[in-house]
Amino acid sequence: MIHSLFPPTREVALERLRDFVPSAGSHYTQGRNTDAGPDAPSATSRLSPYLRRRMITEEEIISAVLSANSLQAAEKFVQEVLWRTYWKGWLEQRPSVWARFLASRDRESLADATALADAEEGRTGIDGFDDWVRELRETGYLHNHARMWFASIWIFTLRLPWALGADFFLRHLIDADPASNTLSWRWVAGLQTVGKTYLATQDNIARYTQGRYVPRGLAREAIALTEAPLEPAQPLRVLTSHDLATPALLLVTDEDMYPDFLLTDRPSIRAATIIVDPDLLWGDAALAFAASAADDVAVRLRGALDDRVTVTRRLDAQTLINAAHAFGVDRIVTAYAPVGPVADRLADVATAVAKAGIVIEWVRRDWDTRFWPHATKGFFAFKERIPTILLHRHRRL
Ligand SMILES: Cc1cc2nc3c(=O)[nH]c(=O)nc-3n(C[C@H](O)[C@H](O)[C@H](O)COP(=O)(O)OP(=O)(O)OC[C@H]3O[C@@H](n4cnc5c(N)ncnc54)[C@H](O)[C@@H]3O)c2cc1C
Repeated sequence: MIHSLFPPTREVALERLRDFVPSAGSHYTQGRNTDAGPDAPSATSRLSPYLRRRMITEEEIISAVLSANSLQAAEKFVQEVLWRTYWKGWLEQRPSVWARFLASRDRESLADATALADAEEGRTGIDGFDDWVRELRETGYLHNHARMWFASIWIFTLRLPWALGADFFLRHLIDADPASNTLSWRWVAGLQTVGKTYLATQDNIARYTQGRYVPRGLAREAIALTEAPLEPAQPLRVLTSHDLATPALLLVTDEDMYPDFLLTDRPSIRAATIIVDPDLLWGDAALAFAASAADDVAVRLRGALDDRVTVTRRLDAQTLINAAHAFGVDRIVTAYAPVGPVADRLADVATAVAKAGIVIEWVRRDWDTRFWPHATKGFFAFKERIPTILLHRHRRL
């Protein structure tokens, strides 16, 4: 069932985008909050697993949508896509929030382990919630509104630690994402926009599930959680300048699975190695999706690079050194990996790779370079910049 909703190829993502474009205006705006269930049609695009791995990019999606709709008509959809960019940019400037989340997933010190097990197994008796657990486990996906209700019930009705809920999502979502997931859970809990929580109510759930669920006994108030002050924001990492001439190996990770822009930028790329390391993905659903997506990228790259492409499952220093030696290069070019397990692993191996005389060059997409610096405050301030940046980019497309 896992793959039935999301066949892991770029071709499917493009097809899905083509089908979605005509309804990106009022149909989306009016219907996007309704969750009619996993087997029913949805007004949303269901593009997130592809976007998460950048098998299709925010830029491609917005460009296609704005070719057929005015920005005004598709404003809501464009803003939703930009939420992903915003969360990425925000976390990029506050990596300690990710580290803090990782460190706070402590199951052992939980007073009521049964309550956690009941929630994770869908045995709470709360109408809707138990079905969402099953849906998530079976399909690897939940509608955005269901994710909000789920997180709110987890935190304020079941009174379970938010970080364990976020961890549960990461272990089951195909689109599992350090930024969107961690920061959305923090937002529901009242940590992200300090003091502002999200309370799931019976009426709202009944209305937007079209009466499928009318849960009783939900928390009536959502008092914001608190935490120790966050570290100040840090500037975006400055990347070293590009070397366009030296022969290089392209490293593809599950953070960016449409690296074709690098082939255009760097004719000096001689070969590619694609690595999806099971240790760096939390759940079977995300792993299965990314591993198949790796095969999909390999097919495209083999055509472009005369078959000089390898696919492996270990992201460590020796694998990178061996791959560079095998193709006779001492430079590795890779799409920038934002805060998350791949970036952490690449940071860990950097010294050993450098000692072997191999340079790793990170290339950030222009989209991220333009938007991320504005993700310093709340989304409202960020959103104000969208039309100007998009207009500038759209003219150049
Ligand atoms: C508690 C919680 C956890 C979440 N965890 C993740 C996660 O791990 N990975 C993930 O990709 N998304 C996450 N989201 C965001 C959102 O729920 C999904 O991206 C969305 O459900 C995807 O469905 P869609 O593609 O049909 O969305 P559409 O409505 O069609 O939106 C188009 C695209 O916009 C982006 N988008 C839409 N809504 C949001 C949002 N609220 N936040 C950020 N981006 C958004 C997504 O890239 C999405 O594919 C989470 C939201 C919540 C409330």
